[in-house]
Amino acid sequence: MEDLTWPRPATLVRIGLVALVALWILGPSMLRSALPIWLVFLVAVGLEVQFLVGALRAGPRQAPDRRPQQVDLDRYGFEPDEDELDEDDLDDDQDELEVAAEPHPFLPPVRRFVLGLGLIAALVLAIWLVDSRTGWDSLDGPTHGKAAARFSAEASRIAGKEVSIYCDESRDYVGAVQHADGVAIVGGDRAYLTPERCFDLYRLAFEDEVTWSRTARALAVLAHEAWHLRGVGDEGTAECYALQSGVEVGRRLGLSQGTAERMMRQQLAENALRGAGTAEYVVSPECRDGGRLDLDASRTSFP
Ligand SMILES: [Zn+2]
Repeated sequence: MEDLTWPRPATLVRIGLVALVALWILGPSMLRSALPIWLVFLVAVGLEVQFLVGALRAGPRQAPDRRPQQVDLDRYGFEPDEDELDEDDLDDDQDELEVAAEPHPFLPPVRRFVLGLGLIAALVLAIWLVDSRTGWDSLDGPTHGKAAARFSAEASRIAGKEVSIYCDESRDYVGAVQHADGVAIVGGDRAYLTPERCFDLYRLAFEDEVTWSRTARALAVLAHEAWHLRGVGDEGTAECYALQSGVEVGRRLGLSQGTAERMMRQQLAENALRGAGTAEYVVSPECRDGGRLDLDASRTSFP
């Protein structure tokens, strides 16, 4: 006897998938950058296939007993009319074995599989819609151009030469330093930022909107890639310089001096935590006021 109080594993997987996608859309941006949602969908499709194969292998289930249960007889005191029973049961009356098995044993698992795929397709569509209506992709071409020009101007000041910032997802540049947030060729004249970072910079520069840690990270990333373009190849050094330059970039894009300093100080504090997994990213102990990497010895606050 099947235990009806517990949902099937497939149902649990689908509930979990919907919850995860909802959290991915509405939740903290950290989840978005940490969790590749397409991989989640790939796993979900894999599980649906596994459930289908499992169901087909298990063969036809026993049809549920459609005769009135004792509890119904107690409640209603009579058996329902034969006509109300499933027609298939009547057709199969001559053959006792046929009555026991479902008429189309493979249909329900296939139907459940198609339903599962339909749900996944609907969630993919939902994410695509949300992505195209919010974020960098929701801005039109001229706005993209205006924003990129602004970012390029800021990066050029740091690089000490004319450089271009592109907002793009392409990350496969040979010989380039690759990060999760941006790409730059050391000593080159162009860098690529992810659309997420570009959008955070756009919101600050054009909409006066700040989301504390995201805005701070975007400023640090822009400055970091700019220092690579200037010729700094060492990650820790580029990051230390970037957090110092980030104060100026932040101020120029609309932050107050105090806010920009606090943001970069927090980025520096978080650097140690973030760097735990990627040692080359950790800034050196010289990244302090009066240290070897201090760009402005005359200033006493750092960064
Ligand atoms: Zn770097």
